[in-house]
Amino acid sequence: MNKKKILIVEDEQKIARFLELELKYEGYDVTIAKDGREGFEKGKDPDIDLIILDLMLPGLSGIEVCRRLRQTSDVPIIMLTAKDDISDKVTGLDIGADDYMTKPFAVEELLARIRVLLKRKYHRNNGEEMLIIGKLKLCKNNFKVEYDSENIELTKKEFELLEYLMRNKNIVLSREKILDNVWGYNYYGDTNIIDVYIRYIRSKIDQKYNVSLIETVRGVGYIIRD
Ligand code: CA
Repeated sequence: MNKKKILIVEDEQKIARFLELELKYEGYDVTIAKDGREGFEKGKDPDIDLIILDLMLPGLSGIEVCRRLRQTSDVPIIMLTAKDDISDKVTGLDIGADDYMTKPFAVEELLARIRVLLKRKYHRNNGEEMLIIGKLKLCKNNFKVEYDSENIELTKKEFELLEYLMRNKNIVLSREKILDNVWGYNYYGDTNIIDVYIRYIRSKIDQKYNVSLIETVRGVGYIIRD
């Protein structure tokens, strides 16, 4: 199984470094952002499995980062608050953070909460999950895809590609990223394979129903918009 990727958004170097060491020791892949803007940019990456987000940040505040990320992403977010300020916590949870911890905190407790959130995310992604964008429905559970309630036959790879695009709706996905996530790191062919599969899916959905679900972003990759 791939290592889970955790993004730490924290301007206090000592804390960021400490968390990085602890999380790496636990077997996570760790990325650090030193301010709010960098945190927002890195946090949009669909490969990130969980974000630890400090509230007091230069650039953009943690609240603002969380609010912006939530417009396109449901990545689990744990907020770190420096002070025991109830209003900050409430605001954080209101705008979609999944959990918060007050500094100073016991790292064991943070690790436990990370495990809970990652497990919840994993279940959400593997349970009876339905992805819906407009008239397009994808049911992970029984590998069914429907458009306007009509069944669409996709091969396994087409299904996985469509699922990845739908799961990351409203995000431009580069060919490299799609290749890594749908074909896996062990695939050594080139990214043209993606264009071929996109054509297959388009012939089965877009052309058949006269819609343009999958947009090409010239020179970059693809996107499905909600
Ligand atoms: Ca801070």
